[in-house]
Amino acid sequence: MSLTNLTLKAAIDGLTAREFTSVELTRAHIEAIEAARGLNAYILETPEQALDMAAKSDARRALGEAGPLEGAPLGVKDLFCTNGVRTTACSKILENFVPTYESTVTSQLWRDGAVMLGKLNLDQFAMGSSNETSYFGPVTNPWRAQGSNKALTPGGSSGGSAAAVAADLCLGATATDTGGSIRQPAAFTGTVGIKPTYGRCSRWGVVAFASSLDQAGPIAKTVEDAALLLTSMSGHDPKDSTSLDVPVPDFTQFVGKSVKGLKIGIPKEYRVDNMPAEIEKLWQDGIAWLKEAGCEIVDISLPHTKYALPAYYIVAPAEASSNLARYDGMRYGLREEGANLTEIYENTRASGFGDEVKRRILIGTYVLSAGYYDAYYLKALKVRRRIAEDFDNAWTKCDAILTPTAPSAAFGLGENSNDPIAMYLNDVFTVTTNLAGLPGLSLPAGLDANGLPLGLQIIGKPLDEATVFSVAGAVEKAAGFKAKAEKWW
Ligand code: GLN
Repeated sequence: MSLTNLTLKAAIDGLTAREFTSVELTRAHIEAIEAARGLNAYILETPEQALDMAAKSDARRALGEAGPLEGAPLGVKDLFCTNGVRTTACSKILENFVPTYESTVTSQLWRDGAVMLGKLNLDQFAMGSSNETSYFGPVTNPWRAQGSNKALTPGGSSGGSAAAVAADLCLGATATDTGGSIRQPAAFTGTVGIKPTYGRCSRWGVVAFASSLDQAGPIAKTVEDAALLLTSMSGHDPKDSTSLDVPVPDFTQFVGKSVKGLKIGIPKEYRVDNMPAEIEKLWQDGIAWLKEAGCEIVDISLPHTKYALPAYYIVAPAEASSNLARYDGMRYGLREEGANLTEIYENTRASGFGDEVKRRILIGTYVLSAGYYDAYYLKALKVRRRIAEDFDNAWTKCDAILTPTAPSAAFGLGENSNDPIAMYLNDVFTVTTNLAGLPGLSLPAGLDANGLPLGLQIIGKPLDEATVFSVAGAVEKAAGFKAKAEKWW
């Protein structure tokens, strides 16, 4: 077994038992990253910094000062600001931006002893579902359909994070989820991803997309690894006014806990047209596994589900158009010259933003404009409220909800890139939790007929990640998903 095949938990155990050092573990990952450049998962490698952090970690361990993630090499989505290390949001407008501060989430990982391997690719400003809107080019999914060498998307926007974890280019990665960007890439790559309750993780130092929806979370190899990472990433931060001042349990304690007697809701509205039979079958498998583990399965209704996607694609662009107004070429980032101030703004934004980002800014500005505000933005906020109420009602009947994560397995690069609506439809099962602020976890539960991974999603009550982890642990155990992408890169 090579050091990069280890789970995060196994690696930490190995470090604790002095079977290898963090420098050795980190070097193995650096070599794996160098050999996998064709995947384009990392857009910036920081090997010197990684080895320096690893050496310091080994020294701390020698002094008996090991933190919970001591010595573990991780990847960071390039949406998290890293002090002195270029942070681009995979845009041209921030192509040369070097922050002078560290995001709260990443600083907590380093506080707990983790090592940074580099910055991971994503859809530009986290807008997309295939990683194809990145200014640095798409990421290729390490998975391929059986007998085919067609390049597939790892999903988006956290495509680099998901691909890097799936290809063993880090032990775990940070990611963000505004409408599904942790969970859909996790489903497409056979990895585990959790978007926690809105407010669990600080948004400070994370490049903003849609502030009322954005949440950070981990992508990892196992449910337990995801719990380990989320425990470190969570916590109150006075620098983010929406950060929740509530205790953070050790989430790992809930993985493996019995789920006997829990009520699991199955929402009938999560059956969409043209959903592959294999996904329906996987969902039924999940139901059977949880029944066997002692859960009670209850049918529930989330009647406003069909309005979630349209509401999301109004609220998210509206907030994005406001958040992205700060990129004006004046204070930081790209500046294109012009004859006057207005022309400088126009030239900078025209050249600095990609097409999808411009589309969002146009939509967002339109739905917020006088005359259309009530018809679109205000209406979408009302729908959002109804969706949250649907979940409130569901919680009177069940403790957690089981659904598929995405309506398909990974699709080909280029397949949906000219059809924004087809691309947006990927988020049909994931946007609801963002609109309602709830935790949602995706874990790999099976393969389709082409040998591609499929994910199941577990949605929990507000701040009840604990139950989500217990249910996910039970599904993981029953599914026995051990498949890995066959190495071709
Ligand atoms: N695919 C969705 C979008 O493009 C979600 C992105 C995300 O969660 N960051 O808006």
